[in-house]
Amino acid sequence: MTKPLFITSAVFVSLMFCGCVINPVTGQKQLILISPAQELQIGAQYAPEIEKQLGGRIENKTLQNYINSIGRNISRISHMPDLDFSYVALKSDTINAMTLPGGYVFVTKGMLEKLDSEAQLAAILAHETAHVTTRHAAWAMTTQIGVDIVLSAISQKTSAGAANMARIGSQLGGLKYSREHETQADTVGLDYLVKAGYAPFAAVETMEMLQKQNEVRPIEFLSSHPNPGNRKEMLLRQINLRLYPKNLKIKRSDYHRYVLMNLDD
Ligand SMILES: [Zn+2]
Repeated sequence: MTKPLFITSAVFVSLMFCGCVINPVTGQKQLILISPAQELQIGAQYAPEIEKQLGGRIENKTLQNYINSIGRNISRISHMPDLDFSYVALKSDTINAMTLPGGYVFVTKGMLEKLDSEAQLAAILAHETAHVTTRHAAWAMTTQIGVDIVLSAISQKTSAGAANMARIGSQLGGLKYSREHETQADTVGLDYLVKAGYAPFAAVETMEMLQKQNEVRPIEFLSSHPNPGNRKEMLLRQINLRLYPKNLKIKRSDYHRYVLMNLDD
């Protein structure tokens, strides 16, 4: 695991309280210099910043409620069923989805336009949910920005504080996970997808879509994610190894009705 480049006193203090934790998903020890309570605080404070930077919320209640309910059905069967997750659609035309520590998941209009079924949406949300439950988001933030920097920007109530919030907000929006983390999020996400009742092949379809779109022009989501071709192969291997129940949900018409038909409002 990558060590932070600097350990300030604030981080050192938090290290004493929440240094090594057992990852609820993998059961392995994980060094995270941030407590779950701090994750919540950071998520709550920076969520509006991410929303602003990605064009604000799509102003259609039907669409937002639908996306949030699909996401919440996934979080309910996840490793963190009691965390108050929120799933929000933003107006940006870039093809992207991301998460903040504490259970804040965002998906862009650009991404929603390219999906074709509820199961595909669920696959994207399940992957992002897995980044939260495996605490990758907290790990990435700690190692790439530094929790003391993130927390200090929140506590500054000046214009310099606002500028820092904006700068750190865009860093949070572009957090990169390791290849190992992405594989883990794909594996855990696939489990969540099926547990929530959706056809696992939908996850493969989203990889095919990303691959195709990236040939048209490089897409945002892939600046922080590994090659979708490799991810697709890995997902296919996992799907072929298991026996899944038959007749799992795809729900194309619901997706068209609640999302695609409401995107232009
Ligand atoms: Zn990811």
